[in-house]
Amino acid sequence: MPELPEVEVVRLGLQGAVVGRVVSDVEILHPRAVRRTAGGAAAFDALVGREVSAVARRGKFLWLLLDDGSNALLAHLGMSGQFLAQEPGRVPEPGPHLRARLATDDGAEIWFVDQRTFGYLDLVATTPTADGRPGGVGSVLPVVPGTAAHIARDLLDPDLDMDVLVRSTRRKRTEIKRAMLDQSLVSGIGNIYADEALWRAKVHGRRSTEALPAATVREVYAAARDVMLEALAAGGTSFDALYVNVSGTPGYFARSLNAYGLAGEPCARCGTPIVRESFMNRSSHYCPACQRRPRARRR
Ligand SMILES: [Zn+2]
Repeated sequence: MPELPEVEVVRLGLQGAVVGRVVSDVEILHPRAVRRTAGGAAAFDALVGREVSAVARRGKFLWLLLDDGSNALLAHLGMSGQFLAQEPGRVPEPGPHLRARLATDDGAEIWFVDQRTFGYLDLVATTPTADGRPGGVGSVLPVVPGTAAHIARDLLDPDLDMDVLVRSTRRKRTEIKRAMLDQSLVSGIGNIYADEALWRAKVHGRRSTEALPAATVREVYAAARDVMLEALAAGGTSFDALYVNVSGTPGYFARSLNAYGLAGEPCARCGTPIVRESFMNRSSHYCPACQRRPRARRR
């Protein structure tokens, strides 16, 4: 599944490929890819003649702002979605999972490829941001697609207010890992990054947010941001063989994980075997020595 760093790599690739270009043709090749759009595939004809003014992102939601920014082409990559950018004149080899094709006035093509079809494209009106700041990474306009307005800013967003995030996390009275995965608090931290950040900050994921000092909550989020920035610097992390970046180059496999998926392996800090336990239909990985479990609560 593409994680936030991969989606940011895709955003950067798309930004270079389409900003300032005018859409000259659109072809929707699978109805499931546009299942959220009233009017279905035909509605996408409205993209023709529109200029892409920005490519923005909030968490794993990605959107192309059109013309003055009152409308956007929203994309969610789901489990396996990819965008491939083809230079003008290149022989297309999209494979069997091509879901949509978008051509621009310079002769380039952008393909939306999705093997499992959990991803989607949608045409949406934008709405002003609640805080009056730009809609997300890559946007200068204070608007966000209406259907993504409930998604909180992510840790790579320069307009994220960390003081507010720390306060609202502690007020939430939940376990810290649940808070990290709560898209209404902060978006884009997946299970993998949550485990890695908690390991780095030496905090057990079941610690309650109201009992953690503000400085510790801040440290956990700073660790999550660091892990994602490192993954981004490596070109997107990639924990998934399906992932291909916007130019069609296979992603990088992660080599630098310290907790996630390492059950039974020695902790890189203290040598204690990493433990795996089930968590919200998924799993958590942590070092039982570095990340002390909270004591049972008194009633
Ligand atoms: Zn350890």
